[in-house]
Amino acid sequence: MKYSTQNIAEITGSKLIGSDDLLIKTIEFDTRNIYTSSKIAFLAINTSKNSGEKYIQSAVEKGVKIIISEHYFPNLKDVTWIIVDNAIQFIQKLAKYHLQQFSLKTIGITGSNGKTIVKEWLYQSIFDEFITVKSPKSFNSQLGLPVSLLEITERDELGIFEVGISKLGEMEILENIFSPEIGVLTHIGSAHASNFETEEQLIKEKIALFKHSKTIIFNGDNALVYNLITNLYSSKNLISFGFESYNNVYIKNEWRGTSEKLIIQYFNEEFKIPISQRDEATLSNAMCVITLLKELKFDHAEITKKINALKAVEMRLESVNGLRNNLVINDSYNLDMDSLKIAFQFIHQYNKPKKSLILTDFVEGKDSEKLYHEVAELTNQQDFSKVFLIGEEIVNFENLFTAQTFTFNNTTELIESTQLNQIEDELILLKGARKFETDRLKTFLELQKHDTVLEVNLNAIIHNINIHKSLLHPETKMMAMVKAYSYGLGGYEIAEFLQHHHIDYLGVAYADEGIDLRKNGITTPIMVMNPEQHSYNSIIDYNLEPEIYSFRVLDLFNEQLLHKGTQRKYPIHIKLETGMHRLGFKADELIELKQKLNTMNVEVKSIFSHLSSADDENEKDYTMDQILTFSQNSEKLMEGLQYRPMRHILNSSGIVNYSDFQYDMVRIGIGMIGISPDQKIKKQLRNAVRFKTVISQISEVEKGDSIGYNRKFKAENTTKIATIPVGYADGIPRLIGNEVGKVGIHQKLFPIIGNVCMDMMMINIGNESINEGEEVIIFNDKPSLEEFSNYCKTIPYEVLTSISRRVKRIYIKD
Ligand SMILES: *Cc1c(COP(=O)(O)O)cnc(C)c1O
Repeated sequence: MKYSTQNIAEITGSKLIGSDDLLIKTIEFDTRNIYTSSKIAFLAINTSKNSGEKYIQSAVEKGVKIIISEHYFPNLKDVTWIIVDNAIQFIQKLAKYHLQQFSLKTIGITGSNGKTIVKEWLYQSIFDEFITVKSPKSFNSQLGLPVSLLEITERDELGIFEVGISKLGEMEILENIFSPEIGVLTHIGSAHASNFETEEQLIKEKIALFKHSKTIIFNGDNALVYNLITNLYSSKNLISFGFESYNNVYIKNEWRGTSEKLIIQYFNEEFKIPISQRDEATLSNAMCVITLLKELKFDHAEITKKINALKAVEMRLESVNGLRNNLVINDSYNLDMDSLKIAFQFIHQYNKPKKSLILTDFVEGKDSEKLYHEVAELTNQQDFSKVFLIGEEIVNFENLFTAQTFTFNNTTELIESTQLNQIEDELILLKGARKFETDRLKTFLELQKHDTVLEVNLNAIIHNINIHKSLLHPETKMMAMVKAYSYGLGGYEIAEFLQHHHIDYLGVAYADEGIDLRKNGITTPIMVMNPEQHSYNSIIDYNLEPEIYSFRVLDLFNEQLLHKGTQRKYPIHIKLETGMHRLGFKADELIELKQKLNTMNVEVKSIFSHLSSADDENEKDYTMDQILTFSQNSEKLMEGLQYRPMRHILNSSGIVNYSDFQYDMVRIGIGMIGISPDQKIKKQLRNAVRFKTVISQISEVEKGDSIGYNRKFKAENTTKIATIPVGYADGIPRLIGNEVGKVGIHQKLFPIIGNVCMDMMMINIGNESINEGEEVIIFNDKPSLEEFSNYCKTIPYEVLTSISRRVKRIYIKD
């Protein structure tokens, strides 16, 4: 979106205080998500639980100049205020207006389960053909829907939005803002039923979304849904799907327990599809997506191909290896009869002969007698050897369960009892309502290989980005380099966080890395620096943007574009060689390059180059030469194009040392992690990564005792040795053994002695009073990553990317 404060006040009938007419591109309502102050307005939302106005001060401290709030606080200086009657109604009004400015095709998805999956699957299937905007994550509420709608831009051809309600009357409000052309009802379950008198009331509320829709695609298995929709909306284009054969779309053959292709009947047409995941939820979502693709006029072959390519977007059921050879299936997303059935179906896929169930209260506030009778009956059919019931309600029905049953009032009681320790070599299904924090049980049951972790602080990453941004013009874009598993810190977790914080671009080395991000829901543009020939096809399929560095790559990629018949101008990035002598076009190739680009079906998104020595004081002249070459060659190339691509050349140290040459975008990498060649900047950065472990054992050795392989250390006096569970297989170079390297305990450094082993190493802790199980820092803060890199005779980049995958990455937001 892009509105001025005056526009917004007019559109929403709000009062403006302050003289400046400022531009707003983003409205943020959570100050924790604010990392740039440019063109951001903070919206203070008051709810029954919390007052957003408490955070206005902190938004202003972060540099936000525009505050939208229900009250005016005159003591805050330099702020332009938009004073509104009601913050939620304000954003709803604005969203409604915003949507009306565009003519994109709209799809609105409602239902109790499956909204997000259907949305993501549909998106995955069509983003090549339609420029599509969709709700982020599962934003679908009175606030979430308007926030999603505000993401629509002029270029979007299709919008897919989730719409969720939890109370009577909410849908009318949402439908007034957003009346989708195609309405989708995924599945009605009892998940939110507690605020409704009857099922009919709930259904009527949800289907109110379709009041002005042309087409309604709905799960028709529920007879009440079927009747209500066909009666109320008989004049619309109605398409029902489901397992019952009276639906327009249904599964024709036996789908349980066979591996044969599914035959999905779509009116008179049959789709044969080999879907391997066969629970009811997955299959009904697949039918829904097929129907949507049909409505979007894809042909039979295309649809079959697209459904085959779908990846499970977000499996609610997660399986982890547990202690004592157990397998833990965790489903703590929501708890109702439907999701319980799905979970029971799901666990049939595993061939563990014995299984146990952990089940909590349903928290539905409905007729609990009837509910728990049904639950027990269904559970008793599943052959669990043990059932653990948690919650003050469900324990009253203990006697209905035929398995050996244990009861607990809360999760802590179960953890503290030793009951779970008795389970061996079983499947444990963990099915809990969110409020019981059953994730704690998962952690308790999970196999922890060792306590060595690489801890990544996501807030520190954003902080470091902000520090770099403060050196740049507000409009300069930023690409975050997340190649090589985000410099070893992790894959989509980091990218997802950056995306959430509106990073403009992501950069990866190989197509596989980009595909991985896309599969995990990353929709931010991604540049691929080493587009290998075999990956062009997937690059296009996954909407990745290749770096083109030679005529060979350009021609081959163009061939692939022609071959695929891609309609739109495909985004690419042109790399210029300016002195790194690695990849890129040289000055004498530019004329031919221009000619070729103009005949091909590509759009040059950016022209860029890379500095070889931006961090090196002594190479300033060389760097300036590189920049000059870039400036001249990029100008030359742009002269021949009818449009202006972005330009960029600065990496992290470039941002710090050469910010005058920021052009349109910069590419941050190591700077995000807290490393900088400039001491003043370095001081302002925060460590985003910490590698730590705990002491496995402490032993006392006498004078003359030797430590480790080949007896490389011999004690000169009595001393204490701590053994820690990290070794060269974790990425610690063997060369830092024998007192080259040190680790930190209690903020003091102690030497690594003897040879580093594969999975362990030994530390001389002298006489310090240190205990087994205490924390050991491999790097950050003491020793620092730079110090540790020096021990290893290398640079932080290599240290980080060498840490093995077996080291568990954990992500914290403080
Ligand atoms: C890795 C990389 C960067 C980031 O470099 P840092 O030194 O980590 O900031 C920037 N541009 C390109 C082309 C890269 O490959």
